[in-house]
Amino acid sequence: MQDCIFCKIINKEIPAEIVYEDDNVLAFKDIQPAAPVHLLFIPKKHIPTFFDLEPEDSKVMGELQRAAATVARDMGLSEKGFRFVSNCMEDAGQLVFHIHYHFLAGRQLQWPPG
Ligand code: C5P
Repeated sequence: MQDCIFCKIINKEIPAEIVYEDDNVLAFKDIQPAAPVHLLFIPKKHIPTFFDLEPEDSKVMGELQRAAATVARDMGLSEKGFRFVSNCMEDAGQLVFHIHYHFLAGRQLQWPPG
């Protein structure tokens, strides 16, 4: 997608601190961290919101979750854990319309989010 900032990160047209990459998934550090560890996990396929998911996208959405566990293990978070959340559209505060999960860790997180 031409105007999508996350597609530009995938295509290395704009910089990001990438922490994980495979054929279908990319993870990088959020530029405005809300926790000591704040990463974003995205599918390489441009999918604006959950409402745009096709049946064949189920595989990559599962891969995102497994990638989060892999990164968490590599970062030594197996015992403390992490939060994996996604904002879908206006009321949730979605700003970038390319599906992404926020990976938050490194402190005791509050629930529910505001
Ligand atoms: O869920 P939402 O769409 O609001 O989150 C978008 C996130 O993308 C923000 O946390 C923002 O800091 C992050 N971002 C980024 N790098 C960019 C643009 C946005 O990490 N170049």
